[in-house]
Amino acid sequence: TPIIEIKNIMKSYKLGGETVHALNNISFEINKGEFLAIIGPSGSGKSTLMNMIGCLDRPDSGQYLLDGKDIGKMNDNQLATIRNQKIGFIFQNFNLLTKLTAVENVELPLLYAGLSAKIRRELALESLKKVGLSDRAGHLPTQLSGGQQQRVAIARALAGNPSILLADEPTGALDSKTSKEILEIINQLNELGNTIILITHDLSIAKQAKRMVSIQDGQLQENGGVLSGHLAI
Ligand code: ADP
Ligand code: ADP
Repeated sequence: TPIIEIKNIMKSYKLGGETVHALNNISFEINKGEFLAIIGPSGSGKSTLMNMIGCLDRPDSGQYLLDGKDIGKMNDNQLATIRNQKIGFIFQNFNLLTKLTAVENVELPLLYAGLSAKIRRELALESLKKVGLSDRAGHLPTQLSGGQQQRVAIARALAGNPSILLADEPTGALDSKTSKEILEIINQLNELGNTIILITHDLSIAKQAKRMVSIQDGQLQENGGVLSGHLAI
């Protein structure tokens, strides 16, 4: 069953006198439990698409259904609510709060869910366990390696049991050995049933996903763009 249905989405920016079609008539579906990579070079429309999928932005036209809900018809408050419930974000630079411990960072998205402090702590510890960081719960981000910080960020993304994990260049700030570890964790989470969308400019990273689409000048292609080799970064 599709968790995401995107039909004929357009998103444009006005730049001086010119209009840039950042997303130019994009259509695709993602099923529950898929592990999809979206690959494209700088300026291809990745951030715009991620903002759309992540409910940070609405399309100019076309339709985006997330779990059957029409995102284009929502106001800002509804968008924020659905984002909190359904999307777990993972960023290149981890985006952890430096004054909070690992477990406190993981609890953050649960604050909006109206859960008691005790339940929040239980869920956060459970989430840290999934990424193998139970023994670092009380550490501050500065006391953790880059890979460990990203694992905290993954635990935070998981904590609210979102419909989708949306990872934007999750290994972009990590060395190759640590990148491999993080990709292994992401792969394990997919094996456990999590739906994952990985956005990257790096073919070797995208290849780790089970399905790959490429974006070029705001248009999507299933696999083909990459295989024809015009995506050399
Ligand atoms: P990527 O993330 O792949 O680098 P973006 O989605 O950021 O691509 O950008 C897609 C296109 O839209 C580019 O041509 C970019 O210059 C343009 N663009 C993105 N954001 C803006 C903006 N706020 N104003 C004007 N043009 C933008
Ligand atoms: P880029 O890929 O262009 O470097 P980022 O990955 O930092 O940008 O962020 C992508 C988008 O997600 C931006 O529009 C940003 O405002 C938004 N964003 C950043 N941090 C968060 C967060 N903690 N929660 C929700 N949205 C965020």
